[in-house]
Amino acid sequence: MSRTYLNYIGGEWQGARSGVTNPDVNPARKDEVVAVFPSAGRDDAAQAAEAAARAFPGWARTPMPKRGEILLRAAALLEQRLDEVAEALTREEGKTLAESKGEVARGVSLFRYYAGEALQPTGEIYPSASPTTVLYAERVPLGTVALITPWNFPMAIPAWKIAPALAFGNTVVFKPAELTPLTAWHLADVLEKAGLPPGVLNLVVGKGSQVGQALVESPHVKAISFTGSNAVGTKLATQCVERGIKFQLEMGGKNPVIVLQDADLDKAVELTIAGAMLSAGQKCTATSRVIVERSVMGAFRDRLAARASALKVGDGMKPDTYMGPLVSADAEKTVLEYIEVGRKEGARVLAGGGKLTGGDYDRGFYVAPTVFDGVRPDMRIAQEEIFGPVVGLIEAQGFDEAVALANQSRFGLSASVVTRDLGLAMRFIREIEAGIVHVNSQTAGAEPQVPFGGFKHSSSGSREQGKAARDFFTQIKTVYLDPP
Ligand code: NAD
Repeated sequence: MSRTYLNYIGGEWQGARSGVTNPDVNPARKDEVVAVFPSAGRDDAAQAAEAAARAFPGWARTPMPKRGEILLRAAALLEQRLDEVAEALTREEGKTLAESKGEVARGVSLFRYYAGEALQPTGEIYPSASPTTVLYAERVPLGTVALITPWNFPMAIPAWKIAPALAFGNTVVFKPAELTPLTAWHLADVLEKAGLPPGVLNLVVGKGSQVGQALVESPHVKAISFTGSNAVGTKLATQCVERGIKFQLEMGGKNPVIVLQDADLDKAVELTIAGAMLSAGQKCTATSRVIVERSVMGAFRDRLAARASALKVGDGMKPDTYMGPLVSADAEKTVLEYIEVGRKEGARVLAGGGKLTGGDYDRGFYVAPTVFDGVRPDMRIAQEEIFGPVVGLIEAQGFDEAVALANQSRFGLSASVVTRDLGLAMRFIREIEAGIVHVNSQTAGAEPQVPFGGFKHSSSGSREQGKAARDFFTQIKTVYLDPP
């Protein structure tokens, strides 16, 4: 029997008011229910928003260093249970255990980082035209914030929202993706055990259309930080504008790697494979377009296809697995549909190209690492986010055309170039339209201390992580203080 977990609202662990529950299924073995979670509704979400609003004045008055101490304790507790949480993450999301361990470790770093931020200055003193005035600008919290997160980084993304939200004095309603509630539960549990007062963080597991919507509509919610698809993000943004509340959106990507003719081709293949196939390509920063200079296309194409075909795909719990399953039946269906679209558009499959079947593959959502050749920039597979282990090779005449092709996208999250030419690398950094730029490293990957986010349709609002998070989770109060 799988354990049944509860939501965390106002410091109490409780089921959905409706009593409805939802199984958390292992995508590597769809017959395995990892856990059972409440399927909360609008009333649960409203209750959580109210609880968070009630807890706000007390938390906002709690000295920042004290808030930081709680985050530090949460980091230590999370680190103690790193293996357990990583295993839960792999079993509910599918990525390999090594990837999950890395992600949980990143969660630990994020809590430590924002514990440190809680000791940083919270404003600036300015010279005043008046000799008696103390003129300063102070950062103050927003109030209750709703954090709505996707399933693909169920630890890192919530951690990089929750830690700064709390450090800067906000109270939180955390609405994780329905597919990955167990990792979210661990986060709420360590924060409770670290001493977070009741109501400061509330966990509500349920459908986006119910819980997410109720939070966006709640008068208690003063800001929304959302990571997920463009379709949902754009809709939420409109609602936030109508309500006059702050929002931050991190959405899709169609991230290119450019391989120039002077590149170390073996290295370029490794970077492309890691960027495209780890986490089964289900990263917003995953590589999905591979733009290669014509003179090296032949050699690169052969090596990439051979490497993709040789990847070990399987259950993420097995130590030799390079790539796990897709997260769900829906995700598998979408990716397989895109592979068909690519074929119909005239692209040629060099590796993979379909579902993996037979043996253990029949128990999970497995799609073969897929490489398309002959991709043109106007094809749907070159423009739309597939969110699976699929890359398309696009040929370029030279550097200028390669950058133009890379920029021919509505997205602009991350981008990479592989070259030994420093001059071209510097031109790439200047000309590429992307929020995260890599030279000789893969498109995926983000360190906690630097801003994270994209250009164009990939992001909206201020950046996440690092010091940038402060811009979102605080507002500025300018004070003219004069003696009586
Ligand atoms: P999704 O948009 O379907 O869901 C994201 C979250 O929004 C979930 O918690 C979901 O329940 C909630 N939601 C759904 N409908 C809602 C509604 N009507 N109102 C309020 N909330 C609602 O996205 P997903 O499938 O979970 O994640 C995949 C997407 O996330 C991809 O597009 C990927 O590129 C993007 N992503 C972006 C980043 C980034 O930092 N740019 C990082 C990771 C994932």
